Amino acid sequence: MEQQTLLAYLRGEDDSALFAKADEIRRSVYGTDVYIRGLIEISNFCARNCYYCGIRAGNPNTSRYRLTNDEILACAHHGYSLGFRTFVLQGGEDPYFSEKTVCELIDRIKTHHPDCAVTLSLGEQPKETYRAWFSAGADRYLLRHETATKSHYQSLHPQTSSFENRRECLFALKELGYQVGSGFMVGSPNQTLEHLAEDFAFLAELQPDMIGIGPFIPHCDTPFGAHPSGDLSLTLRTVALARILFPHALIPATTALGTLHPQGRERGLKCGANVVMPNLSPEAARARYSLYNNKLHTGTESVEQLQKLKDEISAIGYQVVVDRGDVKK
Ligand code: SAM
Repeated sequence: MEQQTLLAYLRGEDDSALFAKADEIRRSVYGTDVYIRGLIEISNFCARNCYYCGIRAGNPNTSRYRLTNDEILACAHHGYSLGFRTFVLQGGEDPYFSEKTVCELIDRIKTHHPDCAVTLSLGEQPKETYRAWFSAGADRYLLRHETATKSHYQSLHPQTSSFENRRECLFALKELGYQVGSGFMVGSPNQTLEHLAEDFAFLAELQPDMIGIGPFIPHCDTPFGAHPSGDLSLTLRTVALARILFPHALIPATTALGTLHPQGRERGLKCGANVVMPNLSPEAARARYSLYNNKLHTGTESVEQLQKLKDEISAIGYQVVVDRGDVKK
């Protein structure tokens, strides 16, 4: 797609055509199936200090927790009984979850549930650690590039976070054989439409299997606590463009989208998204994994209301399936 056309779509010049095209492409590749991922938020300890994130190391008001491998395995067992065939282990960069501890965890989940995929989202790690986790059985890795423009990246992160390293991690993960997910926030401080166009150019270079796009939402205890949230319509446009530009990608209707607007998740599914990630974490952990203000962790974001979520998705013409939901190449 020409850069000028992309920017015109981002400006909202033809939303109805954009959304209809995205849904048509999603139906031609994935039909009306919606894949569910059981999200297990394993730790909110984090060594990083991203200016936008509520669990940043420098937030003294975060009540820190980490789950044990036994607790995580119990979440996976519960999820399996409910029909989940992918578990996403997400957390801050917590040294407690060492190469060895995570290898043991993956091995235990895969031994009990060999028909399930394990997705990791544990930030930037040495390539050898990624290799060990892949050898232990991890299938997928989520690591948003956050923004493909270096100056913008530097305005969102302290100097200790490297723009180049984050990108190198993504290419290393691909080379090792993971199904790789990247993505970005919409409406992060200082972001322009040109930055979003750069994000799509970077994704074209990376060719990810999964693309996570959600609105920026402020967290009161961060340097960006007073910045407004990302715009719903612009977020939906970027989801639709992601589907059109990457027809085979697995694209979640994110929790942030559902937090931003009561119909955010359904609207995401109608314009190209085909994945939802209900929260499988123990109840006590959910409120503490607070990336941004009012992050949804109850209602249909929670696994307890899976049937309600399924009904809502059926009502808009799609259906939740029991499936690993691998990328269709
Ligand atoms: N530590 C891992 C990493 O860095 O990829 C995984 C956890 S990190 C908290 C997951 C994602 O949350 C980030 O990639 C970021 O895009 C998103 N996030 C963090 N703070 C946010 C905010 N204030 N609004 C919306 N999304 C946010």
